Amino acid sequence: QWIYLNGEFVKKEDAVVSVYDHGFLYGDGVFEGIRMYDGNVFRLSEHLQRLYDSAHSIMLEIPYTMEELTEIITETLRKNKLTDAYIRVVVSRGVGNLGLDPFTCKRPQLIVIAEALALFPKHLYESGIEIATVASRRNRSDVLSPKVKSLNYLNNILVKIEANLAGVSEALMLNDQGYVAEGSADNVFIVKGNVIKTPPGYVGALEGITRNAIMELAKKEGYEMREETFTRHDVYVADEVFLTGTAAEVIAVVKVDGRKIGDGKPGATTNKLLKAFRDIVTVDGEK
Ligand code: PLP
Repeated sequence: QWIYLNGEFVKKEDAVVSVYDHGFLYGDGVFEGIRMYDGNVFRLSEHLQRLYDSAHSIMLEIPYTMEELTEIITETLRKNKLTDAYIRVVVSRGVGNLGLDPFTCKRPQLIVIAEALALFPKHLYESGIEIATVASRRNRSDVLSPKVKSLNYLNNILVKIEANLAGVSEALMLNDQGYVAEGSADNVFIVKGNVIKTPPGYVGALEGITRNAIMELAKKEGYEMREETFTRHDVYVADEVFLTGTAAEVIAVVKVDGRKIGDGKPGATTNKLLKAFRDIVTVDGEK
């Protein structure tokens, strides 16, 4: 496996960065997770836009143009002979001194990793997953915007730890007002009759690219799609619940905090949207 690291391709074993990199010391940097399906990179330009926006927001200047970065990603996929892959693009602040000050970092580091990945095993897409809501809160949108996909994922990691301790596959974070925000690395949707809801960005959700695709597909399929706040109670009494994300794709949730959702099986709407999503992933792709 070849990893792109600051201008060259190195073997996985040799892909190491300095302990003085501020990405390592402080989580100072941004990243993207992108998917390639059957030789097509799904919505690459949207992912790159989010990466550059995240970087701009934290005053990190990516030392490559979007075209150059596209070429680097394509070359990484080619070199690893991949047609279906999960791609991780990481831009860290770079090597500096031990102080917090990012201006001691001379040049951001760019890392591109591509490998075959399936987040959940196939049978879970058929059976659905069990999740919990946890005590960890999404950071407030007025501090560091949840739109910034930064390397600082401690909130999300605490959510994952709580999910593991609860013995479930994933967990939902609430925001500081108790509204449902999102999962550790995925967005959440609830279905009630013909209405589908997902929390708006300001509640503390990343505006996921899979989320955007599903909102478009839901409208196309004739559902009333709303970005609206909701609470845990609304999740418990929904007909269907599902999560979306680059790694998770679209996965049904059949139990939340021990409460069965609907009849405890993936619902018709979730299945319809999963199918519609799988139908567009190559069509919306870039070679
Ligand atoms: N929310 C968080 C916190 C994430 O890290 C991710 C993953 O990227 C998502 C939601 C889903 O976003 P996307 O569909 O763009 O992968």
